[in-house]
Formats: sequence, C-alpha cells, structure tokens
Amino acid sequence: MSTRQEFLPYALPLIEEDDIAEVVDALKSGWIAKGPKTMEFEKQFAEYVGAKYAVALNSCTAALHLSLVAAGIGEGDEVLTTPMTFAASANVVIHTGAKPVFVDIDPVTMNIDPKKIREKITSRTKAIIPVHVAGHPCEMDEIMVIAREHNLFVLEDAAHAVYTQYKGKTIGSIGDATAFSFYATKNLVTGEGGMVTTNDEVLYNKIRVMSTHGMSRNAWNRYTEVGSWYYEILSPGYKDNMSDIMAGLGLSQLAKLERMQGIRQEIANYYNVEFGKLPELEVPIELDYARHAWHLYIIKLNLDKLSIDRGKFIDALKEENIGTSVHFIPLHMHPYYRDTYGYKPGDFPVAEGVFERIISLPLYPKMSKQDASDVVDAVKRIVERFRK
Ligand SMILES: *Cc1c(COP(=O)(O)O)cnc(C)c1O
Repeated sequence: MSTRQEFLPYALPLIEEDDIAEVVDALKSGWIAKGPKTMEFEKQFAEYVGAKYAVALNSCTAALHLSLVAAGIGEGDEVLTTPMTFAASANVVIHTGAKPVFVDIDPVTMNIDPKKIREKITSRTKAIIPVHVAGHPCEMDEIMVIAREHNLFVLEDAAHAVYTQYKGKTIGSIGDATAFSFYATKNLVTGEGGMVTTNDEVLYNKIRVMSTHGMSRNAWNRYTEVGSWYYEILSPGYKDNMSDIMAGLGLSQLAKLERMQGIRQEIANYYNVEFGKLPELEVPIELDYARHAWHLYIIKLNLDKLSIDRGKFIDALKEENIGTSVHFIPLHMHPYYRDTYGYKPGDFPVAEGVFERIISLPLYPKMSKQDASDVVDAVKRIVERFRK
C-alpha cells in the first residue's frame, strides 16, 4: 500500500481567482502584448527587490543572455559559473561566443565555492554567474570582492531566488545584473517569463532596447495616442520581451508573494524538524546571512547508512505516489559539455559527490498539510525499510 492514493507532483503553481482576473483583464483591455501591465510589473518588481531598474522578459534564459550581451561579453571571453545549475546558465554564455568555465561548489549550500573562484580566473575572464541554488543565497560579499579585484561583471542567476535575502539585502539589488525566472515551477509564475534587475542605467537601456529588436521605440510608444510611428534600429536586437497577459499574472503573484512564501517556510520548517530526526538524511540549512526562498527542498542521502542508492530511493518514493526531481545533473557530465570542453568525471568532485545524494521533494504553496505529511511519512517508511 502506498502512503497516498493520488500522485503528488514535485511542483505545481498556485493559481487563484485573483490571478485569473488579472489575466482576463489583460485579455479584455485590447492590449495583450507588452504594454501597461508589463511596465507596472517592472516598476513593482524593481521596488520589491530594491533595484533601480527592471526589464520584464519572456524567460530567465533571455534575462541571462541579454545581460551578457549588454555587458559586452563575446568571442574569446571566459565566464565563470557553477556546474550545479540548469543548462541555461551556461548555454547563454556559449550563445554570446564566450566559454563557460566551471568552479566547484560548496558541499553544504551547493552554491559556487568562493574559495575556488580565484584559481579559475585568467586574462580572458570577464564575468561570473553565481546561482542561488534552491533559493539559498551565494556568499555574495566574497564574490563581489573577487569580482571587483578582477573587473568581472557579476550576473546573478536568481531563477530560484525571488524573495531570497543575503545579509538583509534582497537578491536583485546586489550584483551588476540579476536574472529571475517566472517559469511554471518557480516561486512566482507567469507561465514562461523572466526579469532582469540592475542599478546600472546604461546596462538597463541596452537590455530594454535589445529585448525588442533593438528598436528605439517599443510598440506602446508607437501605437497609442501618445505614440509616434517613427523608430530606428539601434542594434540587431532580439525578441525577448514579456506580454501583458503574462504580466497580469506577474502582478497578482507578486501581490501575494509574502503569503506564498509563508506557506513554503512552514512546510520547510516541518520537513526540517521531521527529516532532522533521521541520521540517514542531511537536511538543507539556512546559514546566518541567508533568508532562504525555499524554492526547492533538497535532501541529501547519507548513502553509507542506506542499503539503496539515490535512484532506488526515487523509485521507492514514486511507488508511494510522491513526485521528485534532481537539481541538478552537473553540467560537465552532459555530453555536450563533456565533448566540447573536454570535461571528465573527477573534474568537480564536490558537485559529483553531492549529485549522487540529492533528491528534490515536493514543496510549494498549493500543497495541503496532508500532502506535506504524506511526504514525511513516505520518506520515513523508505528510510526505515532500507536503513543499514
Ligand atoms: C529555471 C532555471 C533557469 C531558466 O529559467 P527560464 O525562465 O525557464 O528560462 C535558469 N537557471 C536556473 C538555475 C533555473 O532553475
């Protein structure tokens, strides 16, 4: 008998009447591309994170890519990042013509290890992309000091880190640019979608212009009664902007972010207490400087205390009707990165070691107390069955 009858997915968005109303409002307004809702969402999001500027885009991937392009990263350059991330963080580097160079991680937070950054810096290194894995902030003070010493552009991948704070500062206000994701599984959703925040006016203007073909005027400034038909192409840009249908969702989601985060925190506390009792598991921690966004709840198996490996543990959870995921398969282990850059097993031992042990459990505001307790019961049952 499994713990529950129905399958519990590892992630689901929380879509309520207010979200539906905002989207319908956009649909009825006659303006469904980038317009007033997108501009309002940009304004509110910038205020929320404490940045001067924000540009709403159709993905975090676009936010990362445009930031690199705007910073002048290209052919011959090297960009440091972590292997413990989603492919987008490194793919965008390749799209600019530059080379992604990985730095191993801290075994506890799974974030880029600041102590290992310096040894990877060469005369070609131009930027660094720290990723706030699971919603726990990177050690930003140390990263910023190294970056300023070597004149590196700091682009934070904050796909997991809406709501995250580092030493009381909200993520989005620290690095030279910060990229957020509003993809369906993230803490704040617009279906697909992303945002870049920055305090740099020049960078902001470049990203904004490049997000709509490199045009001097966006559609709102051309087609409304205040607009003018004339525009000029300032650079061969991209088409990466957000639409007002998405931004409607963004506005309603942002308005209830605190409430959604409160539920995430409650479930995380409950998991921490219950899983903390099991020596077979290592639970995620929140360091002194952190406010965790609990985008993901990643347990690490203490494999020496279990008779099954991570794969079998996931299979057992599936039999209990509990959905899971793994964040992440280290990038250097994927065929493209292995074959193109000659990476091999053993190159990033900490990331590889952690990878064998991690499971992301369901944690999201749409979960009921019963759902959360089913996850706890299922994990306990499996641990009891397979403890050494
Ligand atoms: C989800 C994710 C992205 C990509 O976000 P999109 O909005 O889907 O482009 C980038 N980096 C990390 C770490 C992610 O988890």
